[in-house]
Amino acid sequence: MPLAEVDGEVPYMSLVLVPTAERREAGAGCVSVVGLGPGGPEWLTPEARSELAGADDVVGYRTYLDRVPARRGQRRHASDNRVEAERARHALELAAAGARVAVVSSGDPGIFAMASAVLEEYERGNGEYAGVDLRVIPGMSAMQAAAARVGAPLGHDFCVLSLSDILKPWEIVERRLRAAGEADLALALYNPASRNRREQLERALELLRQYRAPGTPVVVARSVGSACESVSVTTLAEVVPESVDMRTLVIVGSSTTRVLQGEPPRVYTPRRYP
Ligand code: SAH
Repeated sequence: MPLAEVDGEVPYMSLVLVPTAERREAGAGCVSVVGLGPGGPEWLTPEARSELAGADDVVGYRTYLDRVPARRGQRRHASDNRVEAERARHALELAAAGARVAVVSSGDPGIFAMASAVLEEYERGNGEYAGVDLRVIPGMSAMQAAAARVGAPLGHDFCVLSLSDILKPWEIVERRLRAAGEADLALALYNPASRNRREQLERALELLRQYRAPGTPVVVARSVGSACESVSVTTLAEVVPESVDMRTLVIVGSSTTRVLQGEPPRVYTPRRYP
């Protein structure tokens, strides 16, 4: 019954349910680009968890959507990899129509992931999505998880590069690798290889060998946080590119990065630079 008609004649043991006001105005939905972390529920932040739970629609690459616990009444829109722009547009359209949308990304959504894709489409919309409340919910990036597994190889200045030349020319990758080599920065290498991209890592390592000693520590971290995780510590001279796939992150140390032999070996880059 309408609240106004409740007259106080309710029995002693009653339960009154009063709905809250409509939580948003019609037409003004929101998109949050949510980082799921590199794998494993323990790396999902409470903020990300609550965004996912509150979403009407969850949009994302199929493999990442599978990591989001199902909730009744929530719609899921799974897509293939590599259709980032389409996926982003779809999310913005749903939000423009009033939905609360979560776009999921692995790791941190701002690092080689969906946050830029959504912002690109938002800009391309030329005001079309101006009413959409757009937020980015950070997540743990693969490099943090990989580094933590072995110690602190990124404990001093480092640089982050994607070796993929799908969205940028290989000459740019090389120029940046040289600059990082020259500057003696440790490197976190994302997208080091895939089924079809096999030579990039080999070329990158070849280039870095011009700047770094053969014994420079290299960490090869695969599927960190998942059941098939494998992390190994090797050197720039001995690293085997064949062991690297698209679920792998490669960390190359700087001239000061050290390995403490043991089981497991510990790798760290001191905070002080000589
Ligand atoms: N936004 C993600 C990166 C997406 S790019 C993040 O912040 O982690 C995809 C690349 O990330 C992969 O090719 C791989 O290099 C790395 N990666 C993602 N998840 C990983 C994991 N669990 N273990 C190792 N590397 C991972």
